[in-house]
Amino acid sequence: MTENDVVVIGGGAAGLSAALVLTRARRRVSVVDAGKPRNAPAAHMHGFLGSDGRPPTELLAAGRDEVTRYGGHLASGVVTSIVPDAGTAAAGRLGFEVSLEDGPSLRTRRVLITTGLRDDIPDLPGVRERWGRDLLHCPYCHGYEVRDQPLGVLGGTPEAVAHAHLIRQWSDDVVFFPNGDAVTTTQREQLASRAIGIIEHPVARLVVESDRLVGVRLVTGHVVPRAAVFVRPRFVPNDTLLTGLGCATHDSGWVVADPTGRTSVRGVWAAGNAVNPRAQVISAAGEGSAAAIAINNDLVDEDIPIPAHSVLQDVAR
Ligand SMILES: Cc1cc2nc3c(=O)[nH]c(=O)nc-3n(C[C@H](O)[C@H](O)[C@H](O)COP(=O)(O)OP(=O)(O)OC[C@H]3O[C@@H](n4cnc5c(N)ncnc54)[C@H](O)[C@@H]3O)c2cc1C
Repeated sequence: MTENDVVVIGGGAAGLSAALVLTRARRRVSVVDAGKPRNAPAAHMHGFLGSDGRPPTELLAAGRDEVTRYGGHLASGVVTSIVPDAGTAAAGRLGFEVSLEDGPSLRTRRVLITTGLRDDIPDLPGVRERWGRDLLHCPYCHGYEVRDQPLGVLGGTPEAVAHAHLIRQWSDDVVFFPNGDAVTTTQREQLASRAIGIIEHPVARLVVESDRLVGVRLVTGHVVPRAAVFVRPRFVPNDTLLTGLGCATHDSGWVVADPTGRTSVRGVWAAGNAVNPRAQVISAAGEGSAAAIAINNDLVDEDIPIPAHSVLQDVAR
């Protein structure tokens, strides 16, 4: 079994950023990654200072190069379980055994879980195929690229009306499709006051021509021309490894992590979208970096021996 100081599970922005800081702190680090970063469907990544417009795959490839350059070990695979390591526990130290779907288990002193989240989007024909292309969720990521164009916002989640108001910042021509959601009188008035149209008929599908979204087909057969459609997905954290370890959760169900990524379970850390649905690429990377520094400090603390006489002096005081 390979010995590590830290095993990072998930090789997206959060995980690789953490691995970079930890390898530079001369820690033995393995990153296990299933290779499905959340923004994979998008051709370009925006809002990352100095890398705006860069393909997300390029950023991660550069990150992997940097981590390996400092001696980090990268493994492709899916981590299926993490359990406290009985051997290290018997020796009075913290440790974990990380099991992969395929491949040898890893032994490590600390784990950092950066497994991201899943976007639960409406199950309508055309939606899945256009996801990250012209069926979008984040205006900060892709709003500028479709500015001033006819835009749609699909209902289906409690935040959909607020999302329509947000998208209005990028275009004067926004239509909200509640698609079965109830819209209150106040909401109607507020949408109307900002010139956001409402089309009540349920949506049948997105219409695509020459590999471009051109409109929204209603069940009536009518097509509403739109250049892009936004949706506010339900964010589902990939946190089964964290909950499996017993990490405490908020009332919302999301795992609790402090600003350094420390969870309620000693030795278990988390960063990025796995614990924070608001994390963009740059902030996920920042959270990974913060967690790495905190983990390194934690390992340094563990390495400082407590002399027996100082314990006796403390007790005597
Ligand atoms: C379509 C789309 C476009 C976006 N565009 C932008 C943008 O332009 N700018 C921006 O700032 N943000 C953008 N985002 C948000 C961005 O994707 C996230 O902020 C970012 O991916 C979060 O990084 P992360 O490291 O937390 O998670 P991820 O990047 O999702 O990485 C998690 C990694 O963990 C792996 N993993 C999961 N479970 C396991 C397991 N059990 N074992 C091993 N590996 C595992 C996954 O395969 C994945 O590779 C976009 C999101 C979407 C959906």
